[in-house]
Amino acid sequence: MGLQTFRAVGACAVLGLCATAHAAADDAGLARFRATYKELVETNTTLSAGDCTLAAQRMAAHLQAAGYPDADVRIFVPEGHPKEGGLIAVLHGTDPKLKAILMLAHIDVVEAKREDWTRDPFTLIEEDGYFYGRGTSDMKAQAAIWVDNMVRFREEGFKPKRSIKLALTCGEETNSALNGAGWLAEHERAAIDAQLALTEGVDGDLDAQGRRIALEILAAEKVSQNFVFEVTNAGGHSSRPVPDNAIYHLVRAVDRVSQYEFPVQLDDANRAYFTGMAKIVGGEQGAAMRAVVANPADSAAVAVLDKDVNWHAMLRTTCVATMLSAGHATNALPQRARANINCRIFPGVTREAVLAQLTKIADDPAVTVSIPEVRGPIAPPAPLTPEILKPIEAVAHQLWPGVPVVAALEPGASDAQFMNPAGIPTYGVTGIFTDPDGGHIHGLNERVRVQSVYEGRTFLYRLVKIYSNQ
Ligand SMILES: [Zn+2]
Repeated sequence: MGLQTFRAVGACAVLGLCATAHAAADDAGLARFRATYKELVETNTTLSAGDCTLAAQRMAAHLQAAGYPDADVRIFVPEGHPKEGGLIAVLHGTDPKLKAILMLAHIDVVEAKREDWTRDPFTLIEEDGYFYGRGTSDMKAQAAIWVDNMVRFREEGFKPKRSIKLALTCGEETNSALNGAGWLAEHERAAIDAQLALTEGVDGDLDAQGRRIALEILAAEKVSQNFVFEVTNAGGHSSRPVPDNAIYHLVRAVDRVSQYEFPVQLDDANRAYFTGMAKIVGGEQGAAMRAVVANPADSAAVAVLDKDVNWHAMLRTTCVATMLSAGHATNALPQRARANINCRIFPGVTREAVLAQLTKIADDPAVTVSIPEVRGPIAPPAPLTPEILKPIEAVAHQLWPGVPVVAALEPGASDAQFMNPAGIPTYGVTGIFTDPDGGHIHGLNERVRVQSVYEGRTFLYRLVKIYSNQ
C-alpha cells in the first residue's frame, strides 16, 4: 500500500492508528503547530550561515503572543556569539516548594548544502506523508512541540503544581561550537533548575512497513569525542617522490582504524534493551540478543547483531574517519596530512583509554594521535525510576496500545551530557516514531513522517502535563 493511500483512507484500520487519529482530530491547534514547526525549520540555524538567536526570537514571539509576560520569556546570547543565542521561558507552578520540569531542545542543525539535496533543506516540504528538511527530525519537531506546549498550556489556563520551563539552545551539533545547554548550566543554573529535563535521544521504532515496534527511552548515551591523526613531512617536489609521504602514512593508519573493532561491552542499558527487544524481534536476531546478553564473547551471536548499524553501535565504542585534509599544491609532496576520527565512547570508558587504543591501532611513529577538544565532564546517566517510566508507559498505552516501552543505550550523544553533570537528571524521550533508516538525520534529505510528528506532539503534551502535576 502506498503512502498516498495511507493518507487518503486513513491508517486507522490497517496500522492501528485509531486512538491517535481521534486525538489529532479534536485538536484545533494543529495548523498553528505546523506553522511554528515550518518557521523553525525554515530559519537556517547551521553554524556556518545560520542564526539561532533569530530562531529563538521567533519562538519567543509565539510565547509573548500567547500572553507570557516579558519577565518569563528571555533571549540569552553568550558574549562573543551573537548568532548562537537561545530562549528560556517559564510557566509558573502553584507549589513553589516543588522543582520544575524542563523541556529542553537544541535548535541548531547540521550543515546542509542545497546542491547535495534533492529539495531545498531550508524549506519545509510535505511529500508522500513525510516532512523533508534539515532539522525536521533532529530536532526541530520536538523544539516546536515544546513551544506549542507552552502556548497551549497558557491558553488553557493550565495551572500545574510544578513550574514548566522551556530552554531552546544552540551549539549541540558542532563539537567545537559553544554549547548553549552547557552555557546555561554554567551561567543560568537557577533559571533552568529542574526535577527532570526531557530532550531528544531515542525515538520510537517503526519497521519497514511502518508498523510500530517499540517506543524507546534513553537510559544511557555514549560520549562523542574527536581524535586527530596527523602526519607532517618536509615535503618536496612531486617529480622526485620518496616513500616517506605524509598522505601514505596517514591513509594506512586510517585504514587500520577501519579494520579494528572495539570489544563488546554490556551495561544496564544495553542489557535491558537487548533483553526487551529479544522478545519483540524474535527469530535469529532475538536468539542472538539473548546469547550476547548471556555471553558477550559469543562471536557468532555478535556477528548477527553487527549486521544492524544501530545494534553494532550499541555494543561497543566505535571510531570512524569523518574528515581528511592533506597537501598544499598539486605538484608538491605533502607537508601535512590530517584526519578526524570521531569516536562514540561506551559509558564508563575514558577518553584516555581510547586515545591509547587509537595510538596502538595507528601503529606508526610518524602519525601523532591527539584529542583536539573536550566537551566537559562525563557523568553517569540519570536513573530510570518508576516516577519517570510510569507516565511514559501510561501515555504510550493510551496512544499506542500494545507497543512496548524499551530502555535503550543511545549511540549518539545529546545535551544530556551537560545537564546530568549539572545535577539536572535528563531523559531522552520523543514519542516520535521513525523509520529503520533513522530519517537520514545529519545526512541528506532528512525527513520524518508527518503522522509521527503529530503523534509525538500529542504524546509530549500529555506527558509534560502528568510530570508537572506529580
Ligand atoms: Zn539532535
